Amino acid sequence: MSRILQAVRGMNDILPEHSPAWQFVEDRTRAVLESYGFREIRLPLVEKTELFRRSIGEVTDIVEKEMYTFEDRNGDSLSLRPEGTAGCVRACIQHGLLGSQVQRLWYGGPMFRHERPQKGRYRQFHQIGVEVFGLEGPDVDAELLMLTARLWKQLGIEGVQLQLNSLGTSEARARFRDDLVAWLRTRFDQLDEDSQRRLDSNPLRILDSKNADTQALLEQAPRLWDYIDEASRSHFEGLCALLDAAGIAYEVNPRLVRGLDYYGRTVFEWVTDQLGAQGTVCAGGRYDVLVEHLGGRATPAVGFAMGLERLIALIEGQGVALPDPSPHLYVVAAGEQAQREGLLLAERLRDALPGLRVLTHCGGGSFKSQFKKADRSGARWALVLGEQEVQQRQAGLKHLRGDTGQETLPFDTLTERIAQLLG
Ligand code: ATP
Ligand code: MG
Repeated sequence: MSRILQAVRGMNDILPEHSPAWQFVEDRTRAVLESYGFREIRLPLVEKTELFRRSIGEVTDIVEKEMYTFEDRNGDSLSLRPEGTAGCVRACIQHGLLGSQVQRLWYGGPMFRHERPQKGRYRQFHQIGVEVFGLEGPDVDAELLMLTARLWKQLGIEGVQLQLNSLGTSEARARFRDDLVAWLRTRFDQLDEDSQRRLDSNPLRILDSKNADTQALLEQAPRLWDYIDEASRSHFEGLCALLDAAGIAYEVNPRLVRGLDYYGRTVFEWVTDQLGAQGTVCAGGRYDVLVEHLGGRATPAVGFAMGLERLIALIEGQGVALPDPSPHLYVVAAGEQAQREGLLLAERLRDALPGLRVLTHCGGGSFKSQFKKADRSGARWALVLGEQEVQQRQAGLKHLRGDTGQETLPFDTLTERIAQLLG
């Protein structure tokens, strides 16, 4: 016997029992996005490696350690996308979408990062990402946060908190970085190992170290906020004022930095303490320099991405009520003629009642075994057809849940009766 193959580590199947939660999140999210005027853009899963190097940054965890990079048969270096912003910006520049018009775009799908798989952290995971191009004020930052707050409400999720920070301009960050590095270098021994390594490669990431001693040390360190330029400061204050007016609670977290190089000014994360260590469900911010950096003309931009696995874990953990995908009707038919009639009748019902979910018992068998399957399917009613019923052009409608009565109905009254039962 041959060996049974397993999926790649960290890459999950989403089995039918979980798809209602996925569809619920996707459907609700799309409806909320449409209500803010966002349009979908669909992007390739694979891009030139160069794109991610240039946009995410050479010295980031993603580019250094996490990308799935390979040579294709032409010898080009390609990578599975680790995130969606780079491809979205690439597509907008390539297709000339960033003239004078504003673009509100969203995309969804799998992303790939070679990380250590654990709860809430996978090698193939799914994001829905949102990007707005062509608007530079804090009003659009605020609107994106209002959108996410509305989304949590629509998804029935409780207990996610908004953390905000401003990273200022790259000049402000550069001055801060120099001072921070000088300050930390004299305290090198007190840093955790990861932070020691980052001191040379990506010192700002030390700010979001999970190590308690490092965090305590950082209390005394230079603070980014003291370096931030006047314009970024008033942008941030404008954002806070709008959030206050909208009644959206937030916490200013001066340690919040993002892992990707292209962020400046506003950064934010929605976090929860209900998912253990992987508590960030949505993260984003402003990246006004990226479009130009990738060869487009200077265009302000702001966006975020949310991790669907983590959102779904929250929804399942909080027991949010999900739409029930079980069939309404299970067609039970015994005998050759009844089986044939059952298939056709199911078709007529689907024609007449859009949205009706009908499962036909294909494959024959006794009434008894068919009823067992009808019951197991979760259907509300069984439509019962025997030879005699078919002769008389009528069917039995048996209630399978709670009320277990059975009615006999002529074929031509079935649609009406089922419509009535569906309410
Ligand atoms: P983290 O600090 O958790 O590694 P990140 O800063 O690398 O997150 P982003 O690149 O901002 O994450 O991605 C946005 C969101 O996508 C995250 O907040 C998270 O919800 C989700 N996400 C990121 N990486 C993974 C992963 N490997 N598995 C599952 N979800 C992920
Ligand atoms: Mg990460």
